[in-house]
Amino acid sequence: MSNNQRQNMIRHRKIAAVALVAVLLAACSPGETATQAQPTTTSTPEPELEQELEPVEEPKPEATVAPTESATAEEFSFAYHLHESLPSEWVAEFETIMDDIGELAPISPRVSEVSHFQSPMDIWAWVNTVENPFPEAPGVSGMCICGDGPESWRSLEMHPESFVPQRRGLSDEEKLDIHRYQVIVHEYFHVFQVAISGDRREPIWLFEGGAQALENLYSQQRYGESSFEHSLFPITATWVEDPSPLEGYEYTQADNNYGFSTFMTLALVKELQLQQEISEADAFRLVLVDFQEAKFDQDDWEKVFAETFGMRPDEFYATLNKYTITESPEEWYEGDVVDASPAMPSEDIRIEDIFSQTE
Ligand SMILES: [Zn+2]
Repeated sequence: MSNNQRQNMIRHRKIAAVALVAVLLAACSPGETATQAQPTTTSTPEPELEQELEPVEEPKPEATVAPTESATAEEFSFAYHLHESLPSEWVAEFETIMDDIGELAPISPRVSEVSHFQSPMDIWAWVNTVENPFPEAPGVSGMCICGDGPESWRSLEMHPESFVPQRRGLSDEEKLDIHRYQVIVHEYFHVFQVAISGDRREPIWLFEGGAQALENLYSQQRYGESSFEHSLFPITATWVEDPSPLEGYEYTQADNNYGFSTFMTLALVKELQLQQEISEADAFRLVLVDFQEAKFDQDDWEKVFAETFGMRPDEFYATLNKYTITESPEEWYEGDVVDASPAMPSEDIRIEDIFSQTE
């Protein structure tokens, strides 16, 4: 795990243990940077990790392999490096999903103005039963859009558990974790967000919550399965009164599976439908596309938020009080949780309709 030692941000998916949340909180006090919040021992059924990296001083050697390139926009493409450790089924689905999401939500041509996002962007993917198998890219690890300053890449360090049937926390049904496909969409969408916003990511709850929302919209539409089915449970009630700490990464990494961030993103969509009397797809477009786009040359995200959504961030935060907080109804999770079911999207919403007006 030596690669992880130098990574700034890390998060753990679908963590079932309250104790671990406490550990993460302790490890992520304000002002602390480059801490590792490496999950230790949990009974989590889904051990995927995702890391969000700030640029690190880690030079990346030139790639020497001839990669497969797949155009997703006129002048922007990805270069796939898919290691033989990956199941062929996943590799085939990866390519299908990348083509699919690339058509549904094309990368903005303005990506050419984001200097550290070069084209083609390398995607390194492997199963971490082996250490990073790419000698030409020794600094690559985790699940992230990562960078070394001048360059960025996508890393998909898959865990072997993703390819083994296993029990999920909420069901006795044994099946493969749909997250093995969702993560492809999640990391793709970060590239979309960075391109359209000029890499202005704040607030992080919307940057990460937006990617989580889209990966679930995608898996709901294409695979009939998503975290919406159980209303993103468990969403810890920690930030209901004041979610502002989730505007930055320091606390967002303590947000279990970005659950609260995703809840906020979906709650914002619902609030916009209500206040502006617009369709669900239009509200999603405002949140996932228009807001990011409006930030492109604006550093004051709060101002852009107010202009795009017709309410200030604090005004939106106050609306979260309408959601019910209960003791966890599930034995495997302890603590107060938010009942986010009123914020869940329609089952028949289509991604095509959300992105139909974008380039
Ligand atoms: Zn992410």
